[in-house]
Amino acid sequence: MNSIRLYKNLFDQYEKYRETTLNSDIVKHSEITQKLDNLKQKNNFKISQLGKSVEGREIFSVEFGQGKTKILAWSQMHGDEPTATAALFDIISFFSTDDSFNDFRSFALNKINFHFIPMLNPDGAEKYKRGNAFNIDINRDALRKVSFESKILWNYAEKLQPDFGFNLHDQNSYYTVGRTNNPAAISLLAPPINHVKSIDYTREQSMQVIYKIFEALSIFVPDNIARYSDEHEPRSFGDNFVKNKISSILIESGFYKNDKSKNFVRKLNFIAMLAAFDTISQINFTKIDYTKYFNIPENQQLLFDLLLRNLSFKCEGNNFTIDIGIKREKMLDKNEKTFNYKSKIAEIGDLSIYYGIEEFDLKGYEINLPTPLCVEDAADFKILKNGIMEFEILNGFINAKEVKK
Ligand SMILES: [Zn+2]
Repeated sequence: MNSIRLYKNLFDQYEKYRETTLNSDIVKHSEITQKLDNLKQKNNFKISQLGKSVEGREIFSVEFGQGKTKILAWSQMHGDEPTATAALFDIISFFSTDDSFNDFRSFALNKINFHFIPMLNPDGAEKYKRGNAFNIDINRDALRKVSFESKILWNYAEKLQPDFGFNLHDQNSYYTVGRTNNPAAISLLAPPINHVKSIDYTREQSMQVIYKIFEALSIFVPDNIARYSDEHEPRSFGDNFVKNKISSILIESGFYKNDKSKNFVRKLNFIAMLAAFDTISQINFTKIDYTKYFNIPENQQLLFDLLLRNLSFKCEGNNFTIDIGIKREKMLDKNEKTFNYKSKIAEIGDLSIYYGIEEFDLKGYEINLPTPLCVEDAADFKILKNGIMEFEILNGFINAKEVKK
């Protein structure tokens, strides 16, 4: 089967492999231990406990496939970034099924030896926060390795010496594809080894695979795939792995319209990784022109959740035109299973270069806000026009109603 046909079929039949008991936007340690317990019954998967987090939660690896090329993929090193953890279990489910994809499966399993570490930061996952139990950002701890979790990942990679490392994250909803208003559903990065962003053979291979991921995803979402900024971060795992000859691939799950619970970007992760495995399984992938990587538009942070344009604001005899950009913070409810949103005015002024996921042109409308204008918590306010139309902003969501006094 040619690759494009394969990716289209995988996309169409994804629901067969989706681990429906896992949410895409919140995954807890207890859920994955249950999944791994079930997986232990299957002969082709080897589950190992690698150690424990600061608060004593087990961190596991899942190994399968007998190929020569070694791949290490880890997810959720930031506890509040669970999308790829769910996607890794979809991929495990795919590789444990017996159906019309058997040719591709056995091809990949004969070429690749897979090692997945789903949920590197279970303590952060429990609290839905970025850092570990000490609030240390594991992805800024690759040099010093003070966190238990960092040591586990580093030691595993040192022993395995994988050819490829898949570093799986979620990014915020505000990234766009280049300077367009298209949100970046997935951003990809071949991390650099230094501040001048040199390209050695190891990084070149990351770029080649990433270009193929980009091509595969573009079949389905041609305007929503971006390249992450390649500023060198000396303390991160990706950059340090490349220095150690592991071709690293960063996949960031971002925002896609009408996909609040991230089920669609999870599906894109599934396709992205399988396309990468397909590419890596084919010997001639090293012939891909790596400079094509730079054709992928770089992402920019140009979005607000809500952008109100051209409001008039009166203060001490002056009349200004202002735009208001509102960002919503996603917070875990007390039940620790669902979310609510707290909003803040993130910026006021000329926001004409930005876009809103939701936006309104409110020319002719007047806003009442306390001065000085940069009141962070003033996310609840009213906008009036001649007393006939009222917009109410509550918790950052806009409510329009006619008042007709
Ligand atoms: Zn992250």
